[in-house]
Parts: sequence; C-alpha cells; structure tokens
Amino acid sequence: MVTKCLYCKRSVPGRFGTKNYNKAMSESSLKLDFSNTEIAFSNKSDQELKQTFWLFKMMNNQQLVNMGSSLGMLGLKLHVPFTKYFIKKTIFKQFCGGETLRDTQKTVDQLHKYKILTILDYGVEGISEEHEMDETRDQFLAAIKFAASNASVPVVSIKVTGLASNDLLEKAQEESKLSRSDYEAFERVVNRVNDICRYGHELDVKVFIDAEQSWMQDSIDRIVNSMMEKYNREKVIVYNTFQLYRTDKLEYLYASHQKAQADGYMLGAKLVRGAYMNRERQRAEEMEYPCLIHKDKEATDKDYNQAVEYVVKNYETIASCNASHNAYSNQLQAELIAQMGIHRNHPHLNFCQLIGMSDNISYNLSSEGYNVAKYVVYGSVKQVIHYLVRRAQENTSITGDLSRELKLLQTELDRRGL
Ligand SMILES: Cc1cc2nc3c(=O)[nH]c(=O)nc-3n(C[C@H](O)[C@H](O)[C@H](O)COP(=O)(O)OP(=O)(O)OC[C@H]3O[C@@H](n4cnc5c(N)ncnc54)[C@H](O)[C@@H]3O)c2cc1C
Repeated sequence: MVTKCLYCKRSVPGRFGTKNYNKAMSESSLKLDFSNTEIAFSNKSDQELKQTFWLFKMMNNQQLVNMGSSLGMLGLKLHVPFTKYFIKKTIFKQFCGGETLRDTQKTVDQLHKYKILTILDYGVEGISEEHEMDETRDQFLAAIKFAASNASVPVVSIKVTGLASNDLLEKAQEESKLSRSDYEAFERVVNRVNDICRYGHELDVKVFIDAEQSWMQDSIDRIVNSMMEKYNREKVIVYNTFQLYRTDKLEYLYASHQKAQADGYMLGAKLVRGAYMNRERQRAEEMEYPCLIHKDKEATDKDYNQAVEYVVKNYETIASCNASHNAYSNQLQAELIAQMGIHRNHPHLNFCQLIGMSDNISYNLSSEGYNVAKYVVYGSVKQVIHYLVRRAQENTSITGDLSRELKLLQTELDRRGL
C-alpha cells in the first residue's frame, strides 16, 4: 500500500499506521495525559485489575523475584509438576500473547479494539544448533504470513541471535577472524535474515531487527544495513535498532541516515535506550576495555531525546519507532509532531511499548490518534522464561517504593473504589 503524505508530498509507503491514516485529522492542541488511568486500564475488568495489581505487588519485592526466578527456571528444567501451570497463570499471562502464533489472535483483537497495533515477537533466545536456527527462520516467516493477513499487525520483530550463534556473531565483529567454516556459517545467517526480509517486502510486512550486546552488534548492524539497502528503496520494510545508552549510537544514527541518503534508500530506525547495561559494564570491567555505556541515566536520556528529535525532524527520509516506556520521551515526540504540524498518525512516526507494561502510555497515545503498537511476545513457557525474568526484574523495587506500574494500578483501584 502506498499513501501520499500531505506534508512531504512524496509517496509514504508501508503499513505501520497507514491503515488508520486519517487525512481529516488536523494537528490540534496537545491533550496527552499519561496519568489518565481510566483510559490506561479501560480494557480491564475490576477482577483483572485486582489480579494485575497482585502480580505487580509480588514483583515489587526483589527477594521474591530473585527466588521465584531461580525456582521457576529450575522447576522448568526438572519438569517439576505445576511449575509451567503457575507461570502461565501469572507472569506469562501478563507479559505474553500466548504459546503459539494462533494464540496471539485474542490479544491482537483486544488491542485492535483500542486502535493499538501489534508487533509480533517470537520469544526465541540462546540457541546454537543450525537446525534450530532454520526452525526459527521458519517461525519468523510464519509470523510474516500471519501479519499479512491481519489488518492490525503491520510488523514482525526478529532477533538475529535466534538465527545465529552468539559465538559466531561475536567472532564476525572482525571479519578477518573468521575461518572458512565460520564464514560459511555466517553466510547462512545472512541468508536466513534475507529470506525473512524478502518475504516481508513481498507481503508488505515490516521487519524490526532487535539490538543486542555490543560484542555482537557490529555484526548485526552490517547485516541489517545490507537488508535496508536492498529492501528499503521504494518503501520502508527493514528497521535497525539504535541503543542510545551507548555513547556512540547517536552519531551512528546520523551516519546511518547519511549513508541511506547517499545510497538511495530510506532509513528504518527503532529507538531504544538499551537492555543490557549491567552485563555491558561487568564485561568491560572484567576484560579491561572502556565501557560503551553512558556514565549515567541523564546522559542516556539526553541522547535518547536528541535521537527522537532527529528522527521526527527527518521524518521524510526516516521511518521511526519510539520504543520506550519513558513518559517524557513519548511526550516529547508527541509535542514535536504537533510543533511541526505533522499528522499524528503519519506512517513514519510510531510509538511502541511491550505488552503488559506502560498501558498508560499506549492507551492514552492511541486514544489521541497516534500510531501506537504493542510488542506481543509469544512462545512456549520454556522459550520465553528469560524474557519473563527480565520483565519481573524490571518491575522490582530496590528502594522499597512502589514501581511505576504498581503506582498506576493503585491509582486506578482507588479511582474505581476497589
Ligand atoms: C517495544 C520495545 C522494544 C525493545 N527492543 C529492544 C532491543 O531491541 N534491544 C534492546 O537492547 N532493548 C530493547 N528494549 C528495551 C529498552 O532498551 C529498555 O531497556 C527499556 O525499554 C527501558 O527503557 P525506557 O526507554 O523504556 O525507559 P526508562 O525506564 O526511562 O529507562 C531505563 C533505561 O535507561 C538506561 N539507564 C538506566 N540507568 C542508567 C545508568 N545509570 N546509566 C546509563 N543508562 C542508564 C538503561 O538503558 C535502562 O534500560 C525494547 C523496549 C521496548 C519498549
């Protein structure tokens, strides 16, 4: 599908937002209120709200999360009865869309009711066998087919770490280090990614490629750049991910944009702060090299918000996705869109959050007409357990205060008088 942008007067291809592209909507005053819990939890019954509150209350306790994570992983490994059942009824239900692609349909439909799009995210991690990597590619291809037939699923997210071994990606940071067999294995990885991007291009489904740890990211960037060069010529299909907690990534965003312009394709940019800060710091210390992560949160925030400004200002040649749970960064993008007089649902300007988190941002953005999507993770409990542990840890309070999510849930319970 190709849409003419009213502002830049050029073809704006792609589906992220284009289905809801509302030409009649002018850029009116900005009325965003992320503290509006009535809208944020409008999809939850009283009972569901109480259950969610209970879950986040459990997760607020760091000791409980640490113990629960270790027991959960051990229980799954040893097939302890009811472990899987318990995980599925609690944390899995909160943060995942189901075990299979078909299971996700319920979540997709539920989000669609609130004009929220879905980004399918097959939760695969840490595999090393070639046949498993081929299976993962097939899973991603199936997700693209599913998305193509589903009006509110414009994007499939993929992880190169599900298509390659971590060791190989690390080695491939310096191509000269690759042996002949490594080189062949790397070619197979490139072919898997290419199969996915080509299919996305054919069926008009976008492909977001996740960012990983710095010791693998150069290899991933190389592959993604070659895919963007191939498939982002007449529309934006492939998106790289920029981790702004890294000191070098704002510059890299600018350089990627310049390269895209020089080589005649459009940049797809998903912005994130970055998920692997502790491991990055620990490894830099152990191996005695300068850590690539900003020295403090303020510096990360500064680069992140500058990146948001850059992609919005260059929306004609960059299709972006602001992937964050940070209220200020989301508000900033909304304000810039208003200041520049761009349509709120311009297909190049998108927001997304993870399912089960920051509904206050997603539901309030969608109710104001912005393009917003949820990452809907799916996979077997065993496959997604590491993802679930990360989510639990993210919602833990170290200081004993209520976590961001818990405060919002408490506000809504109070508002409903429950
Ligand atoms: C839809 C979606 C997709 C994502 N995809 C990826 C991905 O592909 N790759 C990836 O790595 N992450 C990914 N993430 C996770 C993301 O990188 C962040 O870890 C997470 O979203 C928290 O950051 P925030 O912007 O939501 O908000 P905030 O809560 O405001 O920021 C927390 C983040 O700030 C940074 N930070 C915190 N303390 C410090 C400090 N002392 N010094 C420097 N920096 C600090 C860290 O990055 C931390 O995660 C994704 C997140 C979302 C919502």
